[in-house]
Amino acid sequence: MNRPLPRVGVSRCLLGEAVRYDGDHRRQDWIVSHLAAHVELVAVCPEFSAGLGAPREPVHLARTPAGGLRVRGNDSGRDFTAALERGVACSLERLRQGPLDGCLLKARSPSCGLAVEVMGGREAVPGVFAAALKAEAPEVVRAEADALEDPAAREAFCIRVFARARLRALFSGPWTRGDLAAFHAREKMLLLVHGRPAYTRLGRLVAEAGRWPQKALAGEYTRRFMAALAGPTTRGRHVDALQHLAGHLRGPLDPLRRAQVRETIEDYRHGRCPRPRVLACLRALADELELAWVRRQSYLDPCPPSLLSRG
Ligand code: SF4
Repeated sequence: MNRPLPRVGVSRCLLGEAVRYDGDHRRQDWIVSHLAAHVELVAVCPEFSAGLGAPREPVHLARTPAGGLRVRGNDSGRDFTAALERGVACSLERLRQGPLDGCLLKARSPSCGLAVEVMGGREAVPGVFAAALKAEAPEVVRAEADALEDPAAREAFCIRVFARARLRALFSGPWTRGDLAAFHAREKMLLLVHGRPAYTRLGRLVAEAGRWPQKALAGEYTRRFMAALAGPTTRGRHVDALQHLAGHLRGPLDPLRRAQVRETIEDYRHGRCPRPRVLACLRALADELELAWVRRQSYLDPCPPSLLSRG
């Protein structure tokens, strides 16, 4: 499959760059050693870009008596809000240099974290950079790197980022409503493992595409497509999808090999075979038997296989 290269923002300290307040970093090997080979990473550090240097005074989020949110130094109590706003603007500008599909953020940072405790501990809000990114590009896939230590969460992030890149590739050139219908058909099985209702609603939008102005249609499809893929999957839904795809092999495949495919899917159901192996088996058979509809399903190859969970 010809994959568009996703562009992913990342908190600089996660790449091993010593830009943290303590002059250290929080390198995440998975990002540097695995993900970096498959996407374009764009490193940003709003606090460093604010000119605060490293090491620097650590900061926290605090409410004013009127309810406003400020960034204050832990030791001096100094108000760093204006400086950090400049650092955020500079980081966003860097991300705007190209299309953006995802962003990996450092947890608990008052700048980058997705849910940061405000001084006093009664509420958690996005850090100032995370909030600005969400306001500017709500469909960009965001995750805290800590959460991606869970293989299932890591896979879900990668699948969504690559799906967004495919959709962006469609909408970045001239496209027709027919092209969108073809895209939707290729994403069918991937959408279904995230829940039938969202797939059905999206299908309705494609069916009514002629009533929409093209730009609004692209925006609405993107919003609903990314929301659909944010839904949880289950092993049972994956088994259903695999069996559905295997059903297309029925005619052309001899009974013995058909039974082997069924057995491989059962092995996956019972945790004895990783899903990437079942996907590879179905891909190979679809190639051999020239089953174009099956081979075109993004579900069989949603992202580089090394980024899929082994579960
Ligand atoms: S501002 Fe973000 S990128 Fe910079 S050190 Fe803090 S968490 Fe890392």
